[in-house]
Amino acid sequence: MKNIFLPEIFVDTVFDIDLEKLSQNGVKAFIFDIDNTLATYAMPLPDEKTAQWIKMLRDKDFGVFFASNNDEERVKTFADSVGVPYKAKALKPLGKYLRRACKLMGVTPHETALVGDQLFTDIWGGKWLGMCTILVNPISEVEDSFVKFKRRFEKMILKNSR
Ligand SMILES: [Mg+2]
Repeated sequence: MKNIFLPEIFVDTVFDIDLEKLSQNGVKAFIFDIDNTLATYAMPLPDEKTAQWIKMLRDKDFGVFFASNNDEERVKTFADSVGVPYKAKALKPLGKYLRRACKLMGVTPHETALVGDQLFTDIWGGKWLGMCTILVNPISEVEDSFVKFKRRFEKMILKNSR
């Protein structure tokens, strides 16, 4: 059975994403989750390595957008530090703002990779729109109780898929 929660690609961290391969497959833009994908919940800003990597993506002409379900203050502070357009309270997995992000970058969902650490928000949202979905391992184990609750179900799905 084709699982709507399962990503196309699994990586350990965003730095392990094979840009060349994605590019060959028509990916022109990325929508990133922030928390536990690009930084821990406790980090208000991206670290130097992450900031450089995002800059490199843009230098290679990839579209870059941040879509986070977290609040405006957190997301704006993070995104403004690297000059990336963003949507806070993005309501993932709903498609409304993800679709809007594609439009803003001038790409279709099929030309977009959605990168995140959670199956039921990031991956489901991306797959819904036909994006290439990439699951990263959460950077930190420090998460709120609702995320921890969802992790139990994620584990079941991931276990059954391998
Ligand atoms: Mg996250």
